[in-house]
Amino acid sequence: MRKKVIAGNWKMNMLPNETINFIEQFAPLVKDTKNEVILCVPFTDLFYALLHVQGTNIKIGAQNMHWEEKGAYTGEVSAQMLKSIGTEYVIIGHSERRQYFAETDETVNKKIKSALAVGLKPIVCVGETLEQRENGKTEEIVTNQVEKAFEGLNLEDLSKIIIAYEPIWAIGTGKTATKEEANETIAQIRKKIAKMYSQKEADEIIIQYGGSVKASNAKELFEMSDIDGGLVGGASLKPDEFSKIVNFDK
Ligand code: PEP
Repeated sequence: MRKKVIAGNWKMNMLPNETINFIEQFAPLVKDTKNEVILCVPFTDLFYALLHVQGTNIKIGAQNMHWEEKGAYTGEVSAQMLKSIGTEYVIIGHSERRQYFAETDETVNKKIKSALAVGLKPIVCVGETLEQRENGKTEEIVTNQVEKAFEGLNLEDLSKIIIAYEPIWAIGTGKTATKEEANETIAQIRKKIAKMYSQKEADEIIIQYGGSVKASNAKELFEMSDIDGGLVGGASLKPDEFSKIVNFDK
């Protein structure tokens, strides 16, 4: 049976003092959950977040990384750098990075390999635009993104990866995919994983839904058969709201 994994993506929000305040309020609210709880914070908050989640059940992730180990890449941060301070997860291929920072399926693939090489667990984002959905292309687009992202990965790698299915038209727009739409696309991703690897891997891999998840819709989404929790943007910035999402099953 797959566990539910709920990750917050703070994007470019929160200063260190806000991070510390957030964790102090949030940690007691989620301490009894059996769901996995992750906060993906800006680089400048990572160290503070890692210090302040000690002794709690909250895991910390970054939101991006470079695929090279080191070198002349001004402004970039490597997987090893993230790992060295205790970061456990890293979001890779978020649609905002694909859209604004020229992230491609190829760079996503390189980043996943680099993260895995140092023991960082990737949260790999895939998703279609509204136009692609309206043209009936969702399955083709999303499974193609998965195929390219996972190129060259072997069976053992899969258990360390989370996929986040995030329809681009639902991110930050207040428009959520219906629970049926989200479940159907996630089931299609599982079918693709079964084809690429095996049914066992398809049944075991964690696949989240992301796109305007809030306390009021988390339960109906996360209770669907193929949806294993969520990647949550805006609603993860408020301790009370995010704790209700994490505790959707209480
Ligand atoms: C996200 O940033 O991954 C996201 C899903 O954002 P929001 O929940 O705000 O739509």
